[in-house]
Amino acid sequence: MDTMENSKQQPIMEAPKKIEHIGIAVKNLDESVHFYTQMLGLKLLGYETVESEHVRVAFLQIGETRLELLEPTSEESAIARFIEKKGEGIHHIALNVDHQQERLTALKDAGVRLINETPKLGAHNNLVAFLHPKSTNGVLLELCQQASSSH
Ligand code: ZN
Repeated sequence: MDTMENSKQQPIMEAPKKIEHIGIAVKNLDESVHFYTQMLGLKLLGYETVESEHVRVAFLQIGETRLELLEPTSEESAIARFIEKKGEGIHHIALNVDHQQERLTALKDAGVRLINETPKLGAHNNLVAFLHPKSTNGVLLELCQQASSSH
C-alpha cells in the first residue's frame, strides 16, 4: 500500500529527455574504436581529450544516442582506477537534462548523494555532474546538459 501511495507522488523534476550517451572504460582507445566502427559499423563522431579528467574519449553515434569510449591518459584518472578495480566495461550512463543546477539542488535536498554539487565542464563543453552510485543502485549516472541549451 505504501509503495502504491509513493508511486502516485509527483517526481521532484520532469524526466530526462533521453540517454545522452553510455560511457565505456577502455584500455586502448584505438583498438576499441576499431571494434565499434569496423565490427559493429558505428559512425565515429570524433576524438577529444578532456585534460581535467585525464581521459581521451571517442564518441560513436548509435541511433539518437552515443557511446563514449574513455581511455585514461594518466594514473590519476578516475577511469584508470575504475579499470584497475573492475576491469574494462560500462562506466556510466549519461542522461540528457536541462535545468541542471536546479535538478542537482532538488536531488540533494531529497537526500540523493551527489559526486558533483555543481556542474563541471566535460567533453564537447557540455556541463556534467555525477550522482553517487550509492544512491542509484550502483550505476554511476551523469547528468549532462548540452552547451547549446545552457543559456
Ligand atoms: Zn560521459
